[in-house]
Amino acid sequence: MNIGGIQRLSLLDYPDKTCCTIFTVGCNYRCPFCHNASIVENKLSEKGVLQDEVIDFLKRRIGILDGVCITGGEPLLQDQLESFIREIKSLGFLVKLDTNGSLPQKLRQLIETGLVDYVAMDIKNSPDSYGQTIGINNYNLDPVKESVDLLLSNRVPYEFRTTVVRQLHTSKDIQAIAQWIKGAEHYYLQNFVDSGDVMKSGLSGFSREEIQDFQELIRPIIPSVELRGI
Ligand code: SF4
Repeated sequence: MNIGGIQRLSLLDYPDKTCCTIFTVGCNYRCPFCHNASIVENKLSEKGVLQDEVIDFLKRRIGILDGVCITGGEPLLQDQLESFIREIKSLGFLVKLDTNGSLPQKLRQLIETGLVDYVAMDIKNSPDSYGQTIGINNYNLDPVKESVDLLLSNRVPYEFRTTVVRQLHTSKDIQAIAQWIKGAEHYYLQNFVDSGDVMKSGLSGFSREEIQDFQELIRPIIPSVELRGI
């Protein structure tokens, strides 16, 4: 496992649970709005964290934390992810996985073996705007569609989420996303906030009113749509 860092306590990353968050290094996307650019591009100023250090830390958090959120980068790119999760679960922790949905076979394997308890998948944009939004021209969306269908089949608790960026998303895009993931039980619109470690400068989020307009626009399609970061 290539682990770039660990946040020892998060009250936000796992719905209704206390958790720590583990950041894996590397990603197959290059979203201009990515707020973990140094992790994605492996340009961390500090040395990473060893897998054994994480496990030792978790042993000291048994009974204190409910779960572990594994995020990135894209965690499913890590070869040893499955064995790493097995070790985490053997200590009694719940596991939440954050993914961009580009590796459906690996996602399916983790779900079918009961190794993940919650999945948060990014829907980057409408199908027509996907490539531009992830920084890859002519991107084949089929794997992402497969992951969407997998999660919509309700084999594991999940959420879809979209980080909305003024320069990348229109109300038409938001409507197209909603049609695509219709039936989703949990969908979040997250406003873009510049973390200071963003892939591309000059991007901005929307006003509270604008995001609320998006929410109202798609509520007839996805009644559960909620907002984050406003
Ligand atoms: S936003 Fe997520 S999917 Fe996009 S480059 Fe960053 S880590 Fe990868």
